Formats: sequence, structure tokens, C-alpha cells
Amino acid sequence: MTRVTIVGAGPGSADLITLRGARALASARVVLHDALVDPALRELAPQAEWIDVGKRGFCDSTAQTRINALLVQHALAGGHVVRLKGGDPSVFGRLDEELEALAAAGIACEVVPGVTAAIAAAADLKRPLTRRGSGRSVALSTAMTRAGQLVATRSADTEVFYMAGRQLAALSRRLLGAGWPPETPVAVVSRAGWPDRHVSEHRVDTLPEAVVMHGGRPTVVVVGVGATALSAADLDSIAPPAVAAAPKP
Ligand code: SAH
Repeated sequence: MTRVTIVGAGPGSADLITLRGARALASARVVLHDALVDPALRELAPQAEWIDVGKRGFCDSTAQTRINALLVQHALAGGHVVRLKGGDPSVFGRLDEELEALAAAGIACEVVPGVTAAIAAAADLKRPLTRRGSGRSVALSTAMTRAGQLVATRSADTEVFYMAGRQLAALSRRLLGAGWPPETPVAVVSRAGWPDRHVSEHRVDTLPEAVVMHGGRPTVVVVGVGATALSAADLDSIAPPAVAAAPKP
């Protein structure tokens, strides 16, 4: 019997969770959730005890160890435990560590996928991550190493960087260093999937200007083919409230 369900909550806004995820919440006794999760999700599990296990910053291995221990402890206490994680659990979610902790304790679990931030950003931008003929590959990359260092790569036609929101100027320099031409299109989306999302477009060499609009918000940076505008008819005329032009320096 499944005692733990690890559920991807999607990029934040409660209506982007899957039906399967919502059903798991409806039968939960305990929900261990991340910081970025929409409070409206609580309405899907009013019967459950909600415990915030969100951690801030990078490389917090102590916090992760505590989360693993809490997960095991609540699962052993009985009833259905939901571990609700932002986006998709398999993308920069330290799912491996939680699965290993559960397996070590002999606890059965299921994983329910969620909409990862890159996918929500592509929807907000109305710019597909793949393009027939020109965009054959997509890479999801973290801009931060385990040691807290910023890195940039050029490993796919479209590269989506997570966890770079605080260091867009440095990311611009690293992208140039990784071989992206300065004029390469870059789209930045913060709070993707939320009504108050911000969307802006830049080039690799002008990316630092994006700090003004996105500073302090969860942000993904789309570089390359997937950031390229489709035509004059896309962003501005279709979704004016969600899209604001980047401020001119
Ligand atoms: N598992 C999550 C990612 C967790 S790592 C997922 O699949 O989306 C946390 C990073 O995700 C943040 O630093 C930010 O880069 C990105 N992120 C999470 N939610 C976001 C959102 N709504 N909009 C833009 N970026 C987001």
C-alpha cells in the first residue's frame, strides 16, 4: 500500500496541480510542503495537517536531512502522507534523496508529476521550447553549483536556467563565456503560471537589465531558440497584461 505520495504542485498557482495530485491531497492525513506552494492548495486538503518544510538558500543539507526524517516519521505514524513539492519533483527537487530515505525505511511511495517552471514559462511566453527544424533539443540547467558557484552552459538549442534570478548580470557574462553569441535571444519569466507573472525579452549581452523587473522573484531564464519571437503577432498583441517590455536602461 502506498503510504507516501510525492506530488508535483506545479509552478505555484493552485489550479496548475494535476487531478491526480489533487486526489492525493484529498486523502492526506499530513502534507509536508515547500515554501513556494500556493496557500489556495490547502482547500484541496482541509482535513490534513499542513507542515511547512520549505528551506531557503542553497546546499542546505541539514534541512534536507530533516525533511527526509520527517517524511519517514510521519509515514510510520500511519495514514497517507503527501510530500508536496514545487513544480515537478524530478526537476531540481532533490527527489532522489527523499526516495532513498523512504526506500531505506521500507516505505512504499508513488510520484505524481507536476508542471515544471520551464514549461509554465514557455506557456506564458507563448514561445515553444522546441521548433520544427531549428529547435531540436532543450536543456534544463541549474545556474548554481552545489558549492554556490554560478555556471552557464551551451548544451542544447534551447537552454532554460533555474535558480539564476539573483545573479542575472553574472549569468550574462557566463553565457558569453560559454559561447552564446551576444545577440542570442533571452526571455526571462518570473512567477511563471501566476496571475502576477512578469515576462521580458533581452539578448545575452543585455540580460543584466532584467534584474529591475524580476529581482527577488522565482525566475527562469530561457536562452536560444525557445526565446525567439514567433512573429510580430505573438507577445504584445495577444497577451498585453501578462507581458511587459523590459525597462530601457
Ligand atoms: N522542482 C521545481 C524547481 C525547484 S528549484 C520545478 O520543477 O519547477 C527552484 C527554482 O525553480 C527557482 O530558483 C526558479 O528558478 C524556478 N522556479 C520555481 N517556480 C517558478 C515560477 N513560478 N516561475 C519561475 N521560476 C520558478
